[in-house]
Formats: sequence, C-alpha cells, structure tokens
Amino acid sequence: CKKYVLVKHFEGEPKPSDFVIVEEQLPAIKNNEILAEAEYLSVDPYMRLHVDSFPTGITMIGIQVGKIIESKSSKYPVGKRVVGNFGWRTHTVINIEDEKKYSMGLPHNYILPEIGDLPASVGLGVLGMPGNTAYFGFLDICQPKAGETLVVSGAAGAIGSLVGQIGKIKGLTVIGIAGSDDKCQWLKNECGFDHTINYKTQNVDVELKKLAPDGVDCYFDNVGGDISTTVMYQMKLFGRVSVCGHISSYNTDINAKPKTTILQPAIISSQLKIEGFIITRWADKWQEGIAQNLKWIQEGKLKYRETVTHGFENMFNAFAGMLKGENTGKAIVKV
Ligand code: NDP
Repeated sequence: CKKYVLVKHFEGEPKPSDFVIVEEQLPAIKNNEILAEAEYLSVDPYMRLHVDSFPTGITMIGIQVGKIIESKSSKYPVGKRVVGNFGWRTHTVINIEDEKKYSMGLPHNYILPEIGDLPASVGLGVLGMPGNTAYFGFLDICQPKAGETLVVSGAAGAIGSLVGQIGKIKGLTVIGIAGSDDKCQWLKNECGFDHTINYKTQNVDVELKKLAPDGVDCYFDNVGGDISTTVMYQMKLFGRVSVCGHISSYNTDINAKPKTTILQPAIISSQLKIEGFIITRWADKWQEGIAQNLKWIQEGKLKYRETVTHGFENMFNAFAGMLKGENTGKAIVKV
C-alpha cells in the first residue's frame, strides 16, 4: 500500500513538500473487514480548509471509490465497489461495518449504488458528495421558482456546473461566473446556462447589471470574496443566497486580515435571506439525492464532466491544480 502522509500544515498554497509518500505492509483482514483497492480518488476544496484541524502525521483525508478485493463481511462482497472515506491511499484494510468510526458526519463507506454504464468515478462527483451538495444546497436553501434568475459562482466546477443545470431544470434563467473562456463556452454550449461571465477578464459588476437588469433572485455562492459582494449588491427584493464555500480565501489566513466587507446595506434593503450550510445536514437523504441526479442524467437533463488525472503519484498535482482552477467539472485521480 502507498499513502500520502501530511508532514506539514499548509501555509498559503499547498506544496509537494507538505506530504511524503509512504509504503506500508497491510495486515491480513479479520472478521467484518475488507481490503479495498483504490480505483478513483477525489481531490476537493474542503481538504485545503479542513486538514488544519488534523495533526501532522495523518494519512491525507479524502474519499475514494475502491474495489473490494478481499472480504470477511457478507454485506460488502468481493468485486463490489465501495465509496470510502479512506484517505489518499492505494489499499485499505478497514472494519467496514464500524460506520461511526469512519463516517465524519456523512454516510461514507457504502456500496456504490447501481449506476448503469456510468464510470465508477461518478460516485465521487455527480452521484456523490458534490452532486448532493448541489441538489440539496441549492433547492432546499434557495427555494427557486420558475422564471427567477439564478447566479452561480465557481460555475464550471463540480458543484457549480450541477447547480446551474438544476436551475435550468426548474425553469430559471441561469448566469454562471467562471475563470476561463473555455469553461464559459462549456457552460453555455453543453450545460445550457443562459449567460456566463469570465471573472478573470470581465468586470462582474458591469456584466451582471447587463445580464440581470432587474436583479438576481437566487445566488449559489462557491467562492466568497469580491465576486460574492458584487452579486449580493445586485439581488432582488427577498432574494436568497446559499453560501456553500469561499474558495477565494482558502489559501489565505483569514484571521490575519480585517474582515470588513460591508454587506448590511444590501442585505437590509433587499431583505435577503442568506444561509450557510454543511452538506452533512442532508446525510439522512443521501441516496435520495443520488437517485434524483441519476434520473436526470438518464433523462439527458443533467450533464457532468470530470477532469481526470492519471496516477496515484500525481495526487498532489491534481489537488493543487484544482485549487488553481485547472479542472472543469469534478477533479478526479484515476489510480
Ligand atoms: P470545484 O470543482 O468548483 O473546484 C474549485 C474551483 O474553484 C476551481 O476550479 C476554480 O475555478 C475556482 N476558484 C479557485 N480559486 C478561485 C478564486 N480565487 N475565485 C473564484 N473561483 C476560484 O470545487 P467543488 O465544486 O468541489 O467545490 C465548490 C465549493 O463548494 C468550494 O468552495 C467548496 O469548499 C464548497 N463545498 C462546500 C460544501 C458544504 O457542505 N458547504 C461541500 C462541498 C464543497 P475557476 O477557473 O472558475 O476559478
């Protein structure tokens, strides 16, 4: 087994030297245990944020789809795939029936549901945590209605690209904000977004006023920072904001800076509802979200894309690249 051990907490952008790859011999499996071989591993923004709360020396945190190659658990037979919270490692021996110990608030370590001809990697994206974040985090919090206008930031990423398409399914006008022309083209041509703004080359404030002259009803916020402040000042009366992430500040020490962005005039004058969430809120409805997103894929209503990096030894590059915007759709590593 190979695994990435965190040897240093990140300072600013993560560096290759924050990790060492360690080889270890795994023990023989015991009752209720399985041996899983990683097929696909996920790299996600939360890893940048949450790893600080773990001590150095841990195996880097993360979810994977692993194939069960040995089993002493009748519920997890050999040959099945498991969506496991196993960390950045090629092989895992785990007491798979001991869910509490490994779940981190989410129903991890479940058998990948029936997904037809789709690749198993979807269990880490559109039919996994990001898909459910888009589904529940948008619909439950924004309560969208047909005819309304939705803005999504981080629009070409794993979650944002799905939120915009769910907005289209629900009959909204959708505006996506993303970091390259290629991403914007994909959102418009394949994902059915009505409009896009490239925040690196265009002025979000000016463009949004043109695209949504009457204002924005729903804002799904993946990025925080200036983009979000700009959008919030263009909300309609009784607009709803679902605050999912703030990736624009993940590589900065937010405690070292004054947190003085003034949003109150926008919130009060437009009587906004702004709600943050953590996806664990919908842990009990996990399979419901997966089933709905699968149905939409099968009906041709929901497209998904993955940016796949090949090779376990390239985990770090995939992770660092995702934080810099090198991914379109879900960033995945194929072992
Ligand atoms: P993405 O696939 O969207 O990947 C991250 C993207 O962020 C990059 O591709 C990049 O795209 C964009 N980005 C990076 N830096 C900046 C910046 N400074 N300003 C604007 N955009 C930037 O990731 P996910 O879809 O997995 O996650 C999206 C967000 O959702 C993250 O903030 C994440 O932390 C959050 N999240 C929250 C959860 C919750 O429970 N609340 C659960 C899961 C995720 P670009 O080229 O457009 O810049």
